[in-house]
Amino acid sequence: MTTLTQRLALLQERIETACASNARALSDVQLIGVSKFQPGQSVVEAHELGLTDFGENYLQEAAEKIELLASKPLIWHFIGSIQSNKTKVIAESFHWVHTVDRLKIAQRLSSQCPPDKVLNILLQVNIDSDSNKGGVTAEESVDLVKQISNLPNLKLRGLMAILSQDTDPRVGYETVAQLHRDLKALIHPEFAPGWDTLSMGMTGDLEQAIAAGATMIRVGTALFGPRE
Ligand SMILES: *Cc1c(COP(=O)(O)O)cnc(C)c1O
Repeated sequence: MTTLTQRLALLQERIETACASNARALSDVQLIGVSKFQPGQSVVEAHELGLTDFGENYLQEAAEKIELLASKPLIWHFIGSIQSNKTKVIAESFHWVHTVDRLKIAQRLSSQCPPDKVLNILLQVNIDSDSNKGGVTAEESVDLVKQISNLPNLKLRGLMAILSQDTDPRVGYETVAQLHRDLKALIHPEFAPGWDTLSMGMTGDLEQAIAAGATMIRVGTALFGPRE
């Protein structure tokens, strides 16, 4: 049986190799352990091995783990699709939301964010126009970035992308990275320094994502093993 320790070691080796061969600093790539469908105990163990950032897709399941680990200094990332009636819980429980793709959702997160909290936001882009997933087109992203960056309590940090099976990750992630650079030029200079995040890359394609400039990779299977 492969243990979490062994899987983490292999994963770290992959990340180190990808950073080294692309002249990227290891510290510029944040690993997010995607713990969906994994028991809370796995998150506890991963935290004991040094992981600090975890991603969850389903609110009810996430709430249980966030509660279990409430005493630990963890950073929780919401990476699932967002229903508008769930924005309050998301704004209260998470530090990052990767899957914002509508102004209405951003407005609700902004107005429901607890006082004194700043919620980090990523705009999800759908660069291969795959109707099975969320995200805005490159075209739509321009106005949304301007609108979201004006909302209080939110800090718009960059883009998140999931690629379709049949998109070449090398090409797809380069496209997202280029869009990230293009949008930076459009952002008000006051906000531009905070536009620093590219969340892309999973178990199967993290090397291509790191090569293209990912600053966050979201890894489930390579870390926790197959999901039930
Ligand atoms: C499940 C999931 C991941 C992790 O996928 P793996 O292939 O298991 O690494 C990453 N990002 C999102 C948005 C996911 O839903």
